[in-house]
This record gives sequence, C-alpha cells and structure tokens, in this order.
Amino acid sequence: MSNARPAVASLGFPRIGARRELKFALESHWAGKSGAAELNDTAEHLRRKNWLLQKEKGIDIIPSNDFSLYDHVLDTAVMVGAIPAEYGWTDGDVSLATYFAMARGSQTADCGHPGHQHHGGDVRALEMTKWFDTNYHYIVPEVGADQTFTLTGTKPLDHYLEAKALGIETRPVILGPVTFLKLAKARGGDFEPLSLLPRLLPVYAELLSKLKQAGAEWVQIDEPALVLDLSGSERQAFAEAYEVLAPVAPKLMLATYFGGLGDNLDTALALPVAGFHADLVRAPEALDAILSAAPAALVLSLGVLDGRNIWRADLTRIAGRLAPVIAARGADKIQIAPSCSLLHVPIDVELETGLDEELKSWLSFATQKLGELSALSGSPDGEAFAATDAAIASRAASARVHNAAVSARLAAVTEADRSRKSDFAERIALQRDRLGLPLYPTTTIGSFPQTADVRKNRAAFNRGDLSAGDYDSFLQGETENAIRLQEEIGLDVLVHGEFERNDMVQYFGEQLSGFAFTRHGWVQSYGSRYVRPPIIFGDVERRAPMTVKWWQFAQSKTEKPVKGMLTGPVTILNWSFVRDDTTRAETCAQIALAIRDEVIDLEKAGAAIIQIDEAALREGLPLRQAEWKTYLGWAVDAFRLTASGVADETQIHTHMCYSEFNDIIEAIAAMDADVISIETSRSKMELLDAFTAFDYPNEIGPGVYDIHSPRIPASGEMTELLGLAADRLDKGKLWVNPDCGLKTRGWAEVKPALVHMVEAARAMRG
Ligand code: GLN
Ligand code: ZN
Repeated sequence: MSNARPAVASLGFPRIGARRELKFALESHWAGKSGAAELNDTAEHLRRKNWLLQKEKGIDIIPSNDFSLYDHVLDTAVMVGAIPAEYGWTDGDVSLATYFAMARGSQTADCGHPGHQHHGGDVRALEMTKWFDTNYHYIVPEVGADQTFTLTGTKPLDHYLEAKALGIETRPVILGPVTFLKLAKARGGDFEPLSLLPRLLPVYAELLSKLKQAGAEWVQIDEPALVLDLSGSERQAFAEAYEVLAPVAPKLMLATYFGGLGDNLDTALALPVAGFHADLVRAPEALDAILSAAPAALVLSLGVLDGRNIWRADLTRIAGRLAPVIAARGADKIQIAPSCSLLHVPIDVELETGLDEELKSWLSFATQKLGELSALSGSPDGEAFAATDAAIASRAASARVHNAAVSARLAAVTEADRSRKSDFAERIALQRDRLGLPLYPTTTIGSFPQTADVRKNRAAFNRGDLSAGDYDSFLQGETENAIRLQEEIGLDVLVHGEFERNDMVQYFGEQLSGFAFTRHGWVQSYGSRYVRPPIIFGDVERRAPMTVKWWQFAQSKTEKPVKGMLTGPVTILNWSFVRDDTTRAETCAQIALAIRDEVIDLEKAGAAIIQIDEAALREGLPLRQAEWKTYLGWAVDAFRLTASGVADETQIHTHMCYSEFNDIIEAIAAMDADVISIETSRSKMELLDAFTAFDYPNEIGPGVYDIHSPRIPASGEMTELLGLAADRLDKGKLWVNPDCGLKTRGWAEVKPALVHMVEAARAMRG
C-alpha cells in the first residue's frame, strides 16, 4: 500500500465574515444606501477570503456555493423557480429584489410606522423555520400542486467558476432534491411536495450536467433528510432521484449530517453515488455499520470533527480511530471532514481578546477547525498533536471545569426535590386564596419595550461611559414607569419589565459560573440576524441572587402582585454551546439547581408568583421520534427540579413561545406548572385542542395578542379569541395575556393594545 494520505475536506464555511461584513452590507443595501454592485463586491470578497483561507490551511477539498446572501434553502428555491406568483416573477433571471422579498417581505411593507397595517401591493415574507435541530433558520420553500420548475440561474456554476478563476478547484455544494422537497411546504396543503420530484429532477440534471461540463470533478449533494424518520415512499424517492441524476452528474458526494442514518442506511448506501459523508460526531457508533455495508469503491467522508460545537478536538484519539479504517479501505477511499458545514460555529477564536488564554486553548472555531483537519491528514507525532494533547489534559483536570460541590449536590437530588408538596388541586386553592384574582386574570409575559433609550444607556454603561449608579437609577426609573403604567391599564399581575436584561439567556449566564461569552463569536441565526451563544465550559453554580433586587424594587412600588421572572434550565441549555465532556442532561440539571436557588430566594423575598420561561423546550426535541422520550424525560425533570422548592401557596408559571403541543402534551402536563402561557393568537385558539383532548388539569394563558406585528388588536378581537378559548377549556382556568414578551415593540403600540386586552378580560367577566 502506498503512503498516500487521505484528503481533508470542508463541507462549508461560515458566510457572514469575521467582522460581520455580510450583515452590514445587507443592511446598507436594504436601507437603500448601497446598490447591488456593492453588496456583490462584499459577497465576492468574503467568498475569496474563505477559499484562500481554506487553501492556506491545507484543505484539499474546498467547497463552493456554500456562500449565500441570505439562506441556502432560499437560494435553491429561487434557482429551481419555486417562486410563488405573488412575487411577480414570470421567467428569466430572478432579481435581487424578488429574492429579498421572498426572504423578508417587500420593503414597502415594513414602513416602520407603529400601528401601520400592511396594505395592497405589499408581499409577505415566506415562512421561516429551524434547520433540523440547529439554531439556524431557513426560508421554507412553498410549492403548489401545479408547480413547474425551471433553472432560473446557475449560482453553483458561477461560484465554481469564480473560484477556478482564482486558481482554486472547488467541490460545489448543492442541497439535494429530496431534502429540498421534504423541507418545502405544500401551498393549499392537500398534496405531498415530494410528489413533485419527477418534475424537479430535470432541473437538477440540467444544473449537474452544466457543472460537469465546466470541469467539476465532484459535487457535494446534501441530503440531511436521510437522518430523519422516513416513510417507505420517501426512501423510494432517494432511489428515484439518484438514478436520474448520477448518470449526468459529476461524481456525487452524498452528504448526510446531524445524526446517524439508522434504518435509512441501506437506502443511502444503495444509491449510485461515488461518495458518502456521515456525521460520526453525532453518531459515532454508526461507523461499524457503514464500514461493513459500504461498497469498497465508495469514497467515505468521515465527519470526525464536531461542526456543531466549539471544542478543540482530541486529535490523538481521532487519529487512532481513523488509522485502521484508512489501512483497511485505502487512503484514496477516505476523506476526513467536519461532521457538517462549519456554518454553525463562530469564525475565529483568535479574535477573542476578552477570553483568557487557558480557556481559549480549549476552543476551536471554524478557522481553528481547518487547522485541526489538516493536522489529521499529517503524521500524529506532529507539533499540533502535542499542543492538542496538552490543551485536552488541562481542560480535563481544570478546577474551573469540575466543581465537586456541584456534583455532590446533584448526586443527592431525589424525586422529592422534583415534586411540589401537594397536588395541583390543593395548591391552586391555596394560591387563589392568597392572590384573590378575578376570573380571567390579566398579565403580560415579562418584557416591556427595549427602547432606543434603554439600549443606549446599556451601551454607555458597557463602554464605561455611564456609572453603575447612574445606570441603576435609569433602570429603576424605567421599571417604576412600567409599574405605574400597568396599574393605570388595570392589569392584575404585574411584571418588572426586564429592562436590565440584554438577553433572556445571557443575563443569567453572565451571573453563573461555568459560562463564558465571546465578543465576536457570531453565528448566523437567519439572514442578517446573528447570535453569540454563550459557551458552557464548566459545572454551573449560582454565585449570588440574580434577579431578587429588581423584583423587590418593582414590588415595593405596587400593591398588586409582581411576578418573579426567570429563564428555565432547558432554554438556557438549548441556546448555548454545551460541554462535550458531560451530557446535556447533566448540565441541564446543574442549571436547574442554580435557578431553583433563585426561585427559592424570590419566594423568601415575598414573591407570590414566579415565572420560569421555557421558550426553547420544544426546539430541543431530537430529530428522531424514538429519542423524544429520553429528551423530554430529563428536560421535564430539570424544570420540575427548578420549580419544586417552593411552598404550595407560591404559584409557578411557565411560558412557551409556540402552541404546537399535540405531540408533547404529556410532557407539558408533567412539568406541573400552575399556569402556562403560550402563543395562540394566530392559530385562532385551534391549537388549544391539544389541551382539551388531554384534559389538561392546570391553568392556561392562551396568547390573545400577536406581538410579532406592530398592529394593535381591538378589544373585540381579543374577546372573540377568549370566547374560543372558553369553548375549549374551563373558564375558571383561563388567564389573559399577549403571545410573548413585548421587548421588540414600541410603547405607542403596547399601551393601547394592553388597554384593549384588559377591556376584553372585563367583557368576559361581565
Ligand atoms: N419573559 C421573556 C419576555 O417576556 C420571555 C421571552 C420568550 O419567551 N422568548 O421577553
Ligand atoms: Zn415567548
């Protein structure tokens, strides 16, 4: 056997730019301050930079067409002509304006005037939803039963040629046709988008043959749908698709990621493709099955570096794992790769001047991962391996990571700690006595407008231009105004308004041990919206009370009950980068203990109602149904552990930003929150049916006011929604609240909307 080494491949690199160049270019373009040419210049610059970086880092197989101005699924929809009629496109090139209208609605729709309703001629944005189990959101393609497809453009080819002109041979990445249709939504809803596959395939064939003619040797075709639960006909669709495409295409590297293939493995390995990529970080155990079933001629791309997380890899261990596979199959039949595109991690840890060197040595962002990849293709006695070994050892032994007191406390947790003292029926009677609330009690979800003034003062404080004392007085002023306003409006249960919080997770993470925050660690959430997820690196412990002071201040200004307001452990976990040296379940339980202490302190300070938000509980559901039970088991346990340290008389609320509860209603009931508020206004309360059918025992606040738009609902509309809720649930259990927090709205809309909401509740009582 030759001493050839396997190629190292990158499946995709972040597109946003290390300094968020893409965001600024987009926003300037949308604001009409720069033209298409300037936007395209920035885009081209970023592509070139990424290609050159990957080349410089020693990556053998460099992707192209991983770049997108907004979203790669939208790019695909536009490229194949899946453009709903309302966007006005008929044939030929699709303009940038049409592309962005699909992403964000037409620009005139967003006129910025509070309360200004959308009018004729404007178009809505397409829906957006989570890309598998990541926090990236894609634009949902919409197809009609009579859909036809046509190749409207050749972006993958253009980018391939653009790289070639720079002297870089790339492997274009395209989203596979089956996954594309599986993610699409049927307009009218009465047919399966996948039934359109025969019409879509000629367009893919046309594109792939163009790439072949242009000289592309390989194309990476992403079919992550292969890690989902699939029906027989869905599996059949893969066979159909690749039978058509393989003969006309360059060699195809069929890429799967975000999980193992499980019962879809045979389907995938039977496809007439030249290569197959598997995510061996999420599904390490899948390797054996792949090795024994994959034909010898199939090139295997082994996704051994975590593309979803930010930890420095244990190169020695990975190299040890790869060696026998390479020896057995031959280096020319193996590629070494990240588990998935690096889109989901920040770009460069070297930009982090605020993190200490020790912590930084444990981290690896996209740029560092390229270095790790190339080290893996070299000899394992190289310098990179020694440095990695040292970093891994320091992390494993660090007292910042391992806190014996936290482990001991967690080990001592019993079922009793996760259970309220009495059943709901007993608790609610005591709570009603204590609170004395009317029927249809009114409240809000927690936050009030984060106005320009609030943000300006926070920024000044963070820069050191505003003293802690002055910032505190400012926040007190805002809080007191919010309390006064809520009293005027006549709400029954008040909130302090969350003015002191930058973000519902970050605010808590910054006060807990075991969390770190980056300055430049941006990750694309959708379009030009990027987030900087916290990094949980160590055992989590609360150092001191985190919210009690603000609750006390607010409560001191009113006789009405003010809710304590906390973010729940599952949400904190799901919106952070998590440890890879312990389970998510364990970290979640640690966070639960920390928040539990806060719940108990709020109770001690006198709070009669404490809300624990779990906005991201549903988001954390595993891709495969078979794994739901385990996830929901520990997630519900964590919530219960957080909530159960209080007396029966203390009322626990929770809040979730959605209302699809059919499939998880049992888990929701098991959380045993005294009151749950959910988002229901846009569903016309139909989604409450899950609660009715389950005979959900506890109290519910179905949202009656859509907070996603500046529109001010009339009280009659809200009375109507409450009527629909009362048809479905015992009216004695109903609360009245908006769909979610009001932080993104302006006071000019919030005040009248809440006045109308209180009027609606009064109408229901009368
Ligand atoms: N209490 C938070 C707020 O009102 C809840 C936000 C959320 O659920 N996303 O903003
Ligand atoms: Zn919400």
